[in-house]
Amino acid sequence: MARVIAFSNQKGGVGKTTSCVNIAAALGKLGKRVLLIDLDPQGNATSGLGVEKKNIKHTIYDVLVKGESIRDGIVVTKFKNLHMVPSTVDLAGAELELRELTGEGNRPNGLAVVEEIKENYDYILIDCPPSLGMLTLTALSYADGVIIPMQCEFFSLEGLSQLLVTIKRVRQHYNQNLQITGILLTMFNGRLTLTRQVVDELKKYYADKIFKTPISRSVKLSEAPSFGAPICYYDPTSKCAEEYKAVAKEIIKQTV
Ligand code: ATP
Ligand code: MG
Repeated sequence: MARVIAFSNQKGGVGKTTSCVNIAAALGKLGKRVLLIDLDPQGNATSGLGVEKKNIKHTIYDVLVKGESIRDGIVVTKFKNLHMVPSTVDLAGAELELRELTGEGNRPNGLAVVEEIKENYDYILIDCPPSLGMLTLTALSYADGVIIPMQCEFFSLEGLSQLLVTIKRVRQHYNQNLQITGILLTMFNGRLTLTRQVVDELKKYYADKIFKTPISRSVKLSEAPSFGAPICYYDPTSKCAEEYKAVAKEIIKQTV
């Protein structure tokens, strides 16, 4: 049965999508069967995996709101062992619609439809939008674990405490099994004093939750999506391809 992991941080541009896409591809290359669900109306994970939005027939919106089968939403990507459910801007409307469908105070269980395909995968990774709205709540209410990508900046620490409060609430009310798979340091530059200060601060409270491998800042990594390819295909020998592979191995180690 697949392990379901949401990539979440309400702060924008911290590397959620980049990490989700590249860890998904790295897990696939390591022989794991992976499904990536794009739960962000921006659809960045969809284009990052080279799925052309104009050719998409079914999206995660159709599954969550219109009740279409998740099986119809699955697209086989060009990459080894990697399938995805794409998203388009339609999904922006789902924030309100999901709220109505769920009803005040009830568990947002829209992703329960994933249950029927869970046995086909080892990992299901969900790329969340930069907010703590209904889409993110729907992901956290269903996931087994959450990966928190973050940059080593001062405001990141504030954002993290806010996110941890949300995770705690989700655990209390909707999903007591939700674990923190790990905090992933992104766009990392260990030579900066601020980076080291933020890491020291993080380690005081969450030492056992931080992935051992940080992801370095790299131009190659930001170029790869424009070629619709994860880094382990775009530039397999690059440092950040190795780093994402190491993180994928850390995840596998945790969950065997
Ligand atoms: P959003 O909150 O909008 O969904 P996000 O958290 O998903 O954003 P990304 O889209 O993954 O963040 O990354 C934001 C930008 O930073 C992108 O342009 C991406 O290419 C770039 N980026 C991500 N990781 C790195 C890195 N390690 N080195 C250099 N650039 C990076
Ligand atoms: Mg994103």
